[in-house]
Amino acid sequence: MDTYQCKVCKLEYTDEKIAKECEVWCSTHESCNYLIAQQAINKNAAKDLSITDDERFKE
Ligand SMILES: [Zn+2]
Repeated sequence: MDTYQCKVCKLEYTDEKIAKECEVWCSTHESCNYLIAQQAINKNAAKDLSITDDERFKE
């Protein structure tokens, strides 16, 4: 199975679209988005998660 890795936080996803979303988030924020990171296969490697859902919609 192919996996897609966020180049910034190194989390891996089975869905390329989500990996890209993560990458966009990670490059514009200083932390991972909790909602995105929880879909990672290696989500335990995630750190400094941004837990607030609100932030996602502020942009
Ligand atoms: Zn990321």
